[in-house]
Amino acid sequence: MSSIEMGGTIGIIGGGQLGKMLAQSALRMGYKVAVLDPSEDAPARSTCHTFIHAEFSDFASLKELCGLSDIVTYEFENIDAHILRTLVDDYHIPQGAETVLTLQNRDYEKTAIEEAGAAIVPYEKVATRDALASFAATNGYPVIVKTATGGYDGKGQMVIESQAHMENIDIPFDQAEWVAEKYLQLEREVSLTVARSTTGQVEYFPLQENLHKDQVLYRTIAPAGIDAQYTAKAQKAARKIMDKLHFTGVFTIEFFIDQDGSLYVNEIAPRPHNSAHHTIESCNISQFDAHILAILGHPMPAVHQHQDAVMMNLLGADLDRLEQTLFTNPEWHVHVYGKTARKPARKMGHVTVLTDDVAETLDRLEENFIKGE
Ligand code: ADP
Ligand code: MG
Repeated sequence: MSSIEMGGTIGIIGGGQLGKMLAQSALRMGYKVAVLDPSEDAPARSTCHTFIHAEFSDFASLKELCGLSDIVTYEFENIDAHILRTLVDDYHIPQGAETVLTLQNRDYEKTAIEEAGAAIVPYEKVATRDALASFAATNGYPVIVKTATGGYDGKGQMVIESQAHMENIDIPFDQAEWVAEKYLQLEREVSLTVARSTTGQVEYFPLQENLHKDQVLYRTIAPAGIDAQYTAKAQKAARKIMDKLHFTGVFTIEFFIDQDGSLYVNEIAPRPHNSAHHTIESCNISQFDAHILAILGHPMPAVHQHQDAVMMNLLGADLDRLEQTLFTNPEWHVHVYGKTARKPARKMGHVTVLTDDVAETLDRLEENFIKGE
């Protein structure tokens, strides 16, 4: 796939914080940016030359975006299958349609990961209460059920603690497809961000250690403070998955580590990921730069991290507390996305701190941020 002319236009489907930070990388490299987003005050509206205010299901507007762009990428991965396939046929979208369509559905995603030969947590597609009860009987409680499509940040998920809980819980089987999964007692969660260019070059970012609160990412430490064997294992899983799913651009694999120390793939995001935001300051190349270079087919430098990093998400509730003091900590790299509507659990920004003493930095940061407990 050929690269585009200097100063050409990169189209981004989705103008949230990921779209904004992708646009900032593209702008720095001299490209023009066009963004489509359904929200009138999308964060990336301030970082693009052309903004198309439209729904992701608006085929005509998506065609307009693609028509004025020399290359198109996305930060939003739930584009309708038929629309995406048609766009891929007619426009320059190096990431293609098939990988993202597989990952849109947890059932297809898990099947593909299993077929690739990477370990995943026991799961089953469940369409009835009986099927769910039988899954729980086989695998034991607790069980987590997740909608097969459309979920993010823990939305569309329920943990079922016990048989008694199961008898009282209402799962709308008629309104969605559901996947049941064994609920693990997690020792840690880690993620691996990988960039794969149209030329086949692959670069791995450092393994990241993530803490979620209420199923939303709370903070990331990079590199993960665990044995190097996990980096090797995660990269091995990534290679198997890449052979099966032919990624282009940046993608992130989320992993679980259970109390026996076993590593399982949780899910894959075919786009820049919250857990790799630290790369903006901590690495020689950010995940956003890497994505732009990768889809354009430009060579990427070998990734290395200058210094350990801690990244904390800044939710609405954090911003309420920290608004007056956010810029009084000169060692904090503050990112505020520019969303107007502030809600307690909404991701409004993030803070990255580079450090030689992760434990001390964590203590200092956690004094300031809402713990979500
Ligand atoms: P989302 O698409 O919302 O990110 P995930 O499947 O990644 O959905 O779940 C969000 C978080 O919920 C995970 O990062 C993890 O903390 C918790 N979680 C999800 N599935 C399990 C599981 N099977 N066992 C233990 N924790 C889980
Ligand atoms: Mg997740």
